[in-house]
Amino acid sequence: MKYLLIVFICIVFSACNTASTEPEIEFANNPVIAHRGAWKTNGLPKNSVAALKEAIRLKCTGSEFDVRMTADSVLIVTHDADFAGLNIETSTYETLAKHKLPNGETLPTLKDFIIAGMTDNISTGLVCEIKPSKTEGRNILMAEKAVALVKELKAESYISYYISFSYELIKHIKQIDPNSKVLYLDGSKTPDVLKTDNITGLDYFVYKLKEKPEWISEAKTLGLKLNAWTANKQEDIDWLITHNFDYITTDEPELAFKRLEEAANH
Ligand code: MG
Repeated sequence: MKYLLIVFICIVFSACNTASTEPEIEFANNPVIAHRGAWKTNGLPKNSVAALKEAIRLKCTGSEFDVRMTADSVLIVTHDADFAGLNIETSTYETLAKHKLPNGETLPTLKDFIIAGMTDNISTGLVCEIKPSKTEGRNILMAEKAVALVKELKAESYISYYISFSYELIKHIKQIDPNSKVLYLDGSKTPDVLKTDNITGLDYFVYKLKEKPEWISEAKTLGLKLNAWTANKQEDIDWLITHNFDYITTDEPELAFKRLEEAANH
């Protein structure tokens, strides 16, 4: 009888253990999004896995990164249209990846980057910016490939937002994945228009919002999420804190945490 009880306990325990290996993430309760990862303090390359890991270590609510697509349709994480002097859209991933990042990392594919973001991470959402292409049809293709990849990796719960300067791109993401959250970056649409088009919120240049402060209350009334880029100066960070933004996208996550703490103590 005692033996059976021990066996029973072991079975229950292992069942619980299996359940706990399911991906689980709850975004940290702060507004800080590390812009291209938390790269600055430790001199890491922007958009590197190392910078993503540092944002996770700091428990930022989000870590932003930029996505482009190679000539052979591989989604990669990098900011500029060129990498190591090579045009990304006309170069294959194999050619591009011959060149390492300054810290020795291999140029991350979006797949490897997301997998890194799903590993040992319970609090930092992935904020996926897809860079627009001037080539007809490519924005839609990038949107479809990104959403399909996230689905394949079962990474939906880790992607806090898709963001883009391309309106057609984020609208398409929302269409093919209605549960996704999308923010528009360009600053040219009023909160009203975003709401009508089923966009989750706005992520505008902080100085654009200083020119149009009425958009802040309009967005709040409409239930849109509010984010701004890129607040690196203390006065800009403080301004976003004062206006109760949902998110602060910054190259200075440590400073943002410090200012939030000081604001909370006043
Ligand atoms: Mg970006």
